[in-house]
Amino acid sequence: MFIPNKIVFEKKALDYEIGKNIYEKFKDKSNIEIILASSNRIATHITGENRREKYVSGKKTLVVGIKKTAKFQTCKPSAHFQLPLVSGCIGQCEYCYLNTQLGDKPYIKVNANLEDILKEAKDNIIDRSPEITIFEGAATSDPIPIEPYTNSLFKTIEFMGSEELARFRFVTKFNDVDSLLNARHNNHTEIRFSINTDKIIKEYEHGTASINLRLEAAAKIAKAGYKLGFIIAPVFLYDNWRKEYRELLDMLYDKLSIDVLNDISKQKHSTIGFEVISHRFTTKAKNIILDIYPETTLPMNEDVRTFKYGQFGYGKYVYSKEQLQEMKDFFVVEIDKRFKNKEIKYLI
Ligand code: SF4
Repeated sequence: MFIPNKIVFEKKALDYEIGKNIYEKFKDKSNIEIILASSNRIATHITGENRREKYVSGKKTLVVGIKKTAKFQTCKPSAHFQLPLVSGCIGQCEYCYLNTQLGDKPYIKVNANLEDILKEAKDNIIDRSPEITIFEGAATSDPIPIEPYTNSLFKTIEFMGSEELARFRFVTKFNDVDSLLNARHNNHTEIRFSINTDKIIKEYEHGTASINLRLEAAAKIAKAGYKLGFIIAPVFLYDNWRKEYRELLDMLYDKLSIDVLNDISKQKHSTIGFEVISHRFTTKAKNIILDIYPETTLPMNEDVRTFKYGQFGYGKYVYSKEQLQEMKDFFVVEIDKRFKNKEIKYLI
């Protein structure tokens, strides 16, 4: 379980049950610094002279705050809205998109006013009725490691389960899913696991769960009747990539076991979703990564990549067209060989 070394309570956070519970749990722990902030300028509580030091300090800081319920941000193309339960992550993946997205806020923030957030979600559902509304719970975080502090995922899953026109999804690289297994999800929540080869996890995904633990958690989630998905990302095309990604898919097949796969195929409309995303980087991300991990071995040599403008208007370095085609062909064949009830949502 994640143990922060500093917890900062924003003004008013203690007015909410989540804030009070966290305060009660930690107020007497002498090894954890508790700060009752007089303003909401949290950055002043993140110590460090440079980006690397602030990153290290931020990853051990839990902020308990309030989400002002202005309109939710959109979350195209995979969902309609981001659901702001948590931002930041305790993981330390070298390539993480949060390094760029939350650069000046490298801490983990939980929003204590869950009821307000779910009320806003309800308003969005009503606005879009009779269409279904999909909420993404991991747009700026990995929410699983913080769940023991908040129970927010459990409550959100049950809320979405009770709303006929709501769907919820989130992704994780962690395995602490036991507290979610009995939630009344009503098949409205999809839990995706982000997976990679053992080599990539060990080299770049510091502080996350091992592949074994992630796959065991995935099997539990499938047995509990949730929709299940896998994001294989970022895919790196290194010397042994074919062999190692094949081994990863074999492990996935073995861990899910015939029972689970049969259960999935018996459930109407149920498939395992796959999303496969090749490694890419922007100049901005590369500079930030080099500040935080000066010794990184992440492959970020622009000379051997193709420069491409993305849908959000900025350029990124991707593998060449031929390499990407080879990767796509590989995953289509290998996923198809092992899984009957699956949907490859995208390969990019
Ligand atoms: Fe980022 Fe996900 Fe790794 Fe957390 S687990 S550091 S959100 S890539």
